[in-house]
This record gives sequence, structure tokens and C-alpha cells, in this order.
Amino acid sequence: MQTVFDRYVDPDLIGRALAPASFGSMWLDIPRPDYPRLPGALNADLLVVGGGYTGLWTALHAVERSPGARVVLIEAERIGWAASGRNGGFVEASITHGAANGQSRWPAEFRRLEQLGLDNLDGMQADIERHRMSVDWERTGMLAVATEPHQVQWLQEAAGAGEGRFLDQASVRDEVASPTYLAGLFGPDTCAIVHPARLAFELARACTEAGVQIFEHTGATAIEREGTGVRVDTPAGAIRAQRVVLGTNVFPSLLRRNRLHTVPVYDYVLSTEPLTDDQLDSIGWRSRQGVGDSANQFHYYRLTADNRIIWGGYDAVYHYGRRLDPLYEDRPATFRRLAAHFFITFPQLREVTFTHRWAGAIDTNTRFCAHWGLAGRGRIAYVNGFTGLGVGATRFAADVCLDLLDGRRTERTELKMVRKRPLPFPPEPFASIGIQATRWSLDRADHNGGQRNLVLRTLDRLGLGFDS
Ligand SMILES: Cc1cc2nc3c(=O)[nH]c(=O)nc-3n(C[C@H](O)[C@H](O)[C@H](O)COP(=O)(O)OP(=O)(O)OC[C@H]3O[C@@H](n4cnc5c(N)ncnc54)[C@H](O)[C@@H]3O)c2cc1C
Repeated sequence: MQTVFDRYVDPDLIGRALAPASFGSMWLDIPRPDYPRLPGALNADLLVVGGGYTGLWTALHAVERSPGARVVLIEAERIGWAASGRNGGFVEASITHGAANGQSRWPAEFRRLEQLGLDNLDGMQADIERHRMSVDWERTGMLAVATEPHQVQWLQEAAGAGEGRFLDQASVRDEVASPTYLAGLFGPDTCAIVHPARLAFELARACTEAGVQIFEHTGATAIEREGTGVRVDTPAGAIRAQRVVLGTNVFPSLLRRNRLHTVPVYDYVLSTEPLTDDQLDSIGWRSRQGVGDSANQFHYYRLTADNRIIWGGYDAVYHYGRRLDPLYEDRPATFRRLAAHFFITFPQLREVTFTHRWAGAIDTNTRFCAHWGLAGRGRIAYVNGFTGLGVGATRFAADVCLDLLDGRRTERTELKMVRKRPLPFPPEPFASIGIQATRWSLDRADHNGGQRNLVLRTLDRLGLGFDS
């Protein structure tokens, strides 16, 4: 069976539209702040490793909790250069990678998790306002769209479960005019959009204004308990800290125990040129909602402050051996597929070209949302596994890390979601075989009215199934 995205698109149109696209995140195409390298050994009360959102929220909230504490953040490359500077900028309230995932794993505490996620989204907005962060924050809500008949029922069921307002074909096309839409589900409160790189840079500014010391080009190479604290080695010297938080996301963990818990999966994105008023009128989209379609392999898209369309998702590519390599980020076949799907969705925009193409790696675990842990006799906290939904969840995760290090029991630390670690992925070649079989099966399900095959049903039973 074919899906709407299997329709023919003229290869010349795709080639012409992609020709001007330069390689690299459009979001990072702005002036970036510079921070010094670590000059030599130093001491800290708290050391944060990683200058993405996880590390930055941790450092900011740490100094706010303990004014006067010496908080140091080290980043191997540049602040926000990785996932935090490349993502779609959807700030979803969900901290469980969607309601279906959270509900199926933690039914007893799911309502609590939903509320904590909403509180986190409101808290993030309040932090942004309090620190006067200029990050193009827009509380637009989220529109899920059905592009295949079986997805209409899914959206109706989700509306029945209180996840938003169901929109029939005419109403959804009135919001955003795509001939592919059969229905929609609009959640007004559960999503904001943001400029992702500005969020990282503004967080870094707020950190330094609050007294955090930030060092770029300073990679941690080893971590060890020493006396009553922790020693972290860097090429410039050792940092001795009372406590450490590891916010290193998809990159190899400094802790051996974490090496099998996540795998890197590459996600690809295109940005158009800014749309003219006439082009924007031709697709409606006056309310500027974030949009996602509803297949297992899904697209996400949104407008920027200057009315470009950010268009990403669909292909999610794993490379044998958990390998990370910048060469994987330029994948012509995927960019051509994304461009084709863009023109199927918005045939009105045939004249529009793409200015940027890029990719980033997401850290996927076997439960598809963050997991936490303590090491070094409670002196080192870590969090990983955001699986493509970390823009909002990293702030919640940072608070959990600080709670865990404090050794206090809080509402957050008592959550089963926080206390239990997921199963690791198996070593190679089994990881690769399993992931490719799952990916193939998800694609088949999308082409087969959503019917999940034996592989997916078995994974679902084991609590390892991915359901977007
Ligand atoms: C293409 C793409 C689209 C996405 N879209 C969305 C979206 O729309 N909404 C959403 O919610 N999520 C999205 N995500 C996921 C989201 O971007 C991430 O979950 C989030 O940015 C993770 O933040 P982080 O700080 O944990 O990781 P990162 O931003 O990856 O930061 C980790 C940092 O740690 C540093 N580091 C690693 N090891 C060391 C070391 N040993 N020493 C020093 N520094 C180290 C790295 O250099 C890096 O800067 C997307 C991700 C990608 C790739």
C-alpha cells in the first residue's frame, strides 16, 4: 500500500529547490558568544559537563538554589553546537515523549508526569521572562495532522482521551492549507516554539550573569572519585569538585555503565528561505502552531520568526557500532526525500527554495525518554535518553539531577520514572539488527493502515516498542 508521501515529485523541482541549501544548522547562522578555554586546574562546588540545554539549565538552577556556590561548566566544543543548536525548537510539555509512551509505562503516575511536564513548560516560560532571554518564544500549541485514513481514528481517540480538540478535514485545512490533511488534533497549551540556538546562548548569558564560570573547548577525558569529592580530567588540568552533573547527551559517557544505554540516531532538517506574504497566505497558518504528522515515520514543521519553514524528521538513521561521525550529517538521499515530502504537503510553495540543510544525533534509549542515575557514591548525577524530545524535558531533567545530588527526597526523585533505569541496548551486531528490523517494521506499518507486525507487537509486549 502506498502512503501520500509515495506520490511522484518532479526530480528537477527537488534539485532546483535544494541547490541553494548550504550545509549547517540555520539556527547557528547567527553571532555566537565566545567563552575561554580552561586555563588550568581548579576547584568547584559543582562541575557541570556539557554545554547544551541539560548542562546550562543545571548550572543556572544550581546557582539559583545556592547563591555563592562555585559552579563551573565545561564544554568540549562550543555552547549549543550539538543537538541544542540544531533541533526543531518544539518545546513540548510532555516529559515522557508523548502521552502514549508515558501512559503505557507509568500508568499509576502518568497524571502526575503530565502535570509536572505542564509545570515545567510554564516554569521555563517564567525563567525566560525573568532573565529577559531573547529566544523568539511563542506559546503556539501543537497541531497533529492525519495524512492517512487510519490516523484519523487515532486522533479521534486522542481527543477522547483529553489530548486536544479534534478538527475535521475542513477545519484542519482552514488552519493550515495542505491537500494531504484528513483531520487534526490541536493542543493549545502543551507546546511552545523557540529559537533553539538563541535559547542555548541566552541560557549561557544568564548563567554567567548569575556567577557560573563557562569554559569552551574543554573536554572532560576521565572522571574518578577522589577523597570526598570527584576529579574530572581535562587536557588543561584536573577539576576537583564536590559534585558533578554529566549532561553529555549522545556523546560517549564518561561512565562505563552508561555506554550501552543509548544509541545515536541521526535526524535531518531543511529550512526554507523566508516566505513572502503571498506565499504565507497561500498556506494559511495564521496561528503559527507547531505541526507534526502522525505516522511512525513523521515530519515536524514550524515557522520561524522571519517566516521560514523548518521541515524535519521522517528518516531516522542509525549507524553500526553506535558511531557518531560528522560525515553522516550530509545525506543527499534523505534531503531529497524531505524536499519531496515538503512539496507534496505544500504544492502551493513550488517556487520556494531551501537555504539550509543539516542533521544532528539524538540519544535514544529503550524507553524513549530521559533516564537518570547517581554514581561515585552519590556525588555524580547523569541524565540521558531524551530521544528527540529534550528541548523542554532537559529543564525538568536538570532539576532532577540537582535533587538527586542534594540527597533530598522530592516529588521528582520519588517518581518511578526517575528511580528506574531502562534496559540497555544489546551489543553489536544485535543492536544494529534489532534497530534496522524495527525501523523497517515501522515503515511497513505506515504503509499498512498502521497494522503492527510481529516484531513490533513483540517489542510492545516487552515494553520496548516505539510509538510516535
Ligand atoms: C535534528 C534534531 C531535531 C530535534 N528536534 C527537537 C524538537 O523539536 N523538540 C525537542 O524537544 N527536542 C528535539 N530534539 C532533541 C533535543 O535537541 C535534545 O534532546 C536536547 O538538545 C538535548 O540537550 P543536551 O544538553 O542533553 O545535549 P546536547 O545539546 O547534545 O549537549 C551535550 C553537550 O555535551 C558536550 N560534551 C559531550 N561530552 C563531553 C565531554 N566529555 N566533555 C565536555 N563536554 C562534552 C557536547 O559537546 C555537547 O555540546 C532534536 C534533536 C535533533 C538532533
